[in-house]
Formats: sequence, C-alpha cells, structure tokens
Amino acid sequence: MSTSSRRDQLLTELRAWGGASPSVLEALATVPRERFVPPESQSRAYENIALSIDAGQTISQPRMVAEMTTACRLTPQSRVLEVGTGSGYQAAILARLCHDVVSIERIPELSHQAARRLRELGFTNVQCVVGDGSLGWPAGAPYDAILVTAGAPEIPWPLYEQLTPGGRLVVPVGAGTQSLLTITRTASGPQTETGIGCVFVPLVGQAGWPESSPPAPPKS
Ligand code: SAH
Repeated sequence: MSTSSRRDQLLTELRAWGGASPSVLEALATVPRERFVPPESQSRAYENIALSIDAGQTISQPRMVAEMTTACRLTPQSRVLEVGTGSGYQAAILARLCHDVVSIERIPELSHQAARRLRELGFTNVQCVVGDGSLGWPAGAPYDAILVTAGAPEIPWPLYEQLTPGGRLVVPVGAGTQSLLTITRTASGPQTETGIGCVFVPLVGQAGWPESSPPAPPKS
C-alpha cells in the first residue's frame, strides 16, 4: 500500500474515533510522519502506534497526538510551549495550528535533529531549545497552552505559572500508567479535568522524576 493510502486509512480511523477536532485532523493529514521516524520504521509510520526514536525515546501514537492537541484548544493566535521535543512531530502538528511554538528537550542530540527536520520541512514558527522543560521556558512565557509529552509524577506547577489567564496545561501525570490531565488557569485557581489513561516516557527533571530512578517502562 502507498504512503498516502496508509495515511488516508489512519485519518479515517481517527475520524471514526471522534476525539480530534477537524483542524487537528487537517494538521495530521498534512504533516509527513514518515519524516520523523527512523528509516527502519518508515513503513509503519501511519500505524496508530508509538514508535522508537533515538536515545531510547518514542514518538507518540497518532491518536494520542490528536487527543492532546485537541485538548489545547488552539487558535491561529496561540503561543504554545511543548515539553519533550523528541522527534519534533508533535511540534510540527502544533506549528500548523498556532502562531508559534517553543519546544524544549533535555537531550541535545534529539533537539538538534528535530530542529534540522523542522527546518527542512519549511517550519519557521518553531523554536527548539535544550533544557529541563519540567521548569518550563520562562524566557518565552506566557503561553496559551503548554503540552507535556512525557509523564510527570505530579502536576509540574512551574508550568502552570507560565500560562496566560485561561491558558491550558495538558500533561500526563502518575507513576507507571498516567492520566492525561488538562489544567486550566482561571481567576479562581487551577481547574483540572482528568482524561484518558496513557503511558509516556518519564519527564526527568526538577519538577519531574529524578534522573536516577525513573519509573516503569517507556511505551508511548
Ligand atoms: N513529542 C515527541 C515525543 C516525546 S517522547 C514527538 O512528537 O516525537 C518524550 C521526550 O521528552 C523525550 O525525548 C525525552 O527526552 C523528553 N524529556 C523528558 N524529560 C524532559 C524534560 N525535563 N525536559 C525536556 N524534555 C524532556
């Protein structure tokens, strides 16, 4: 089957599932996921699964990307922080839907590869930075949405502080299996909605897991 028919099939599956907004589906239809996965996984780029990338990390399952991006409720004016650049795929999806993205990654090699890929694909509204994203990236704050693509032990409050009023923090929280939380910054304080269960690689950092004892197995 050709790449484009595999992609069409995945989009049909995601449309039937119903959890993604039309604009998020449109972004998924236009970003070439095969450019973000290692050569040996390219034939599987449009399966609805997480895949391994370099440095023992993963590119998330498309359904999870759709779910998390939809939860951000982006507009073309939104400014977004992504924590956990990985391959750069999620950053590319965000970049299609908002004004600009800062994406932070703790592993320099992954950040540099992702930045190169995004540049080659013509993205000009993503800034890739290296650092401990559990503390956010105050230099670019405030953000209308912050999306964390690694699992945190608890809500990383430094990120909440970097939201605009009404801004949304989307983050998987928990040990082993996480729950996808969406925390909205309101005048009366944080409002938390609990979403689906998920399994992400650990968020390692000062407001995440300690480097020495990361939790259970990385999957999505
Ligand atoms: N969003 C990525 C998938 C991310 S996998 C994609 O679309 O491909 C999670 C990533 O989070 C890994 O690359 C990992 O190195 C990174 N990470 C873990 N803890 C981090 C931290 N404190 N700051 C920044 N990145 C972190």
